[in-house]
Formats: sequence, structure tokens, C-alpha cells
Amino acid sequence: MASTLAGQHALVSGGGRGIGRAITAALHHAGVRVSIIGRNGTILQQVLDAGEADRAATVDVTDEAAMVRALAELSAEKPFDIVVANAGAVETAPFRKSDAALFRRMVEINLVGTVNSFRPALPAMLERGSGRLIAIASTAGHRGYPYVSAYVAAKHAVVGLVRSLALETARSGVTVNAICPGYTDTDMVAGSIATITGKTGVTAQDALAQLVKDNPQGRLITPEEVAASVLNLCQPESRGITGQSLLINGGEF
Ligand code: NDP
Repeated sequence: MASTLAGQHALVSGGGRGIGRAITAALHHAGVRVSIIGRNGTILQQVLDAGEADRAATVDVTDEAAMVRALAELSAEKPFDIVVANAGAVETAPFRKSDAALFRRMVEINLVGTVNSFRPALPAMLERGSGRLIAIASTAGHRGYPYVSAYVAAKHAVVGLVRSLALETARSGVTVNAICPGYTDTDMVAGSIATITGKTGVTAQDALAQLVKDNPQGRLITPEEVAASVLNLCQPESRGITGQSLLINGGEF
């Protein structure tokens, strides 16, 4: 069956690894032309070599001017129909050690990075009367977690941005949504897992076992599950879904 998305153009930030890579692959297999961005050019090149993305630009999503330039170049031939603001990062620390610099870093990458991905693409979408803006937020955009207060605050801000922008664009044919995964099997969890409990001397293996045990479904989410929801939000029949944040977390609350 021909994909309803075939021929569209998508931007995926952080499309080289983890959840972003799965989103890139899923869009590509749906016939979408995919442009990816990230800081590591070698990783982006591997995705191009695998034939899963069409174009790539090495850019830091927190750099507004560089993002405006990169997105203009990537969309010069064909404007973006879909933007997935997926790039993000977490740093764990108890609140008493979370200084203003850490809060600024979390807001820059998770919130401002999303703004810098959405803003340059929006005017062409408004002109055309269609488009999909999707932020990969987190379950941390809905509830608190100890030892990651800066990340949680930044992801709540992403959900707030999505709700407001959806109202601003409601009559335009552009939808704006957040996808909020729970713990997902990627480098991010592998890198932070030992410190996520805030206890010292916890091994990564023990921390992972605890996360899995605490999840109602007893497992981590897979990047492919997140990608499937992105594809769903991109369907023409999903145009009534806007301003929402979709939790994919195995029932965790
Ligand atoms: P990874 O650490 O595996 O990948 C992060 C991606 O973001 C990489 O492609 C990285 O590319 C890119 N990135 C990070 N910082 C920047 C930057 N400043 N500029 C450009 N690109 C950047 O993380 P995940 O795949 O797990 O996470 C993807 C998104 O999903 C994030 O927003 C994260 O907060 C969110 N999320 C993840 C969960 C999880 O449990 N894994 C749960 C809920 C939400 P490069 O290094 O090349 O720059």
C-alpha cells in the first residue's frame, strides 16, 4: 500500500542516534525524504550511508543563527512538511548541586533547541496551510523525578510550548504535539542510569533492574515505539490532534 506520507520532507534533530535514529528510519520507510541534524558529523554520515536519510547538517540545536542557516539550506529545494524536535540531553544531580548553569544547559538544549527547530520551519507551513511540529518531550514533562529537576523543568517547558503554539496555529492546518516517552532503551538511559537513583555505589545493572521493576509493564520503551507514534501524528487523519502530549511509558505514573 502506498504511504500517505510519501514525498513529504521531514527534519529530525538528533536523527543520528537513539530515538531520533528510529524516527528517521520509520519516516524513510514511509517514503518521506528525511533531513537530519546533530553535532556529530560522523554519526550523521553513517545514517546517510545506510540510505535512511537524504541530507544531513552538522549543527548544534542551541545555536539559533546556525540553525536558521542550516534549516534554510536543508529546505531550499523543498520546505519541511514535518519537524521532529528530538535532540535533547539529561544531566543528573541533586537539587542542592544543580546550579543556575546546569538549569541553563538543560533549558538551552531541551527547550531552546526545540524552539530553534520549530521557528525557521513554521512560516512555510503556515503559508501552505499544513504541517506537523512534533517535540520529543518526556514523561518528565508531566511528573517529577528526583535528581533531575533541571531536566524535568525543561521538559515541562517543552509541553507548555506545545500547548501554546498549538493554539496559535490551530486555524492554520499546522498541528503541534509532544510525545512523552518513559525510560527508553538508548545511550541516554545507559549513560545516566547509575546516577538516576541519586544513591552512590549503585551499579548500572542494579539501577536498570530497578527501573524495569518499577515500570507497570516491567520493561523499557523501545525507540521504534516512539517512532510509530510520530508516524501516526503525521497522518492526514491525525489533523484533529493538536496541543497534546502523548505518554508512551507502559502506564508509569
Ligand atoms: P541519545 O542521548 O541517545 O541521543 C540524543 C540525540 O540528541 C543525539 O542524536 C545527539 O546527537 C542529539 N543532540 C544532543 N545534544 C544536541 C545538540 N546540542 N545539538 C544537536 N543535537 C544534539 O538520547 P535519546 O535518543 O534517548 O533521546 C532523544 C530525545 O528523547 C531527547 O529529547 C530525550 O530527552 C528524550 N527522551 C528520552 C528518554 C529515554 O529514556 N531515552 C525518555 C524520554 C524522553 P549528537 O550527539 O550527534 O549531537
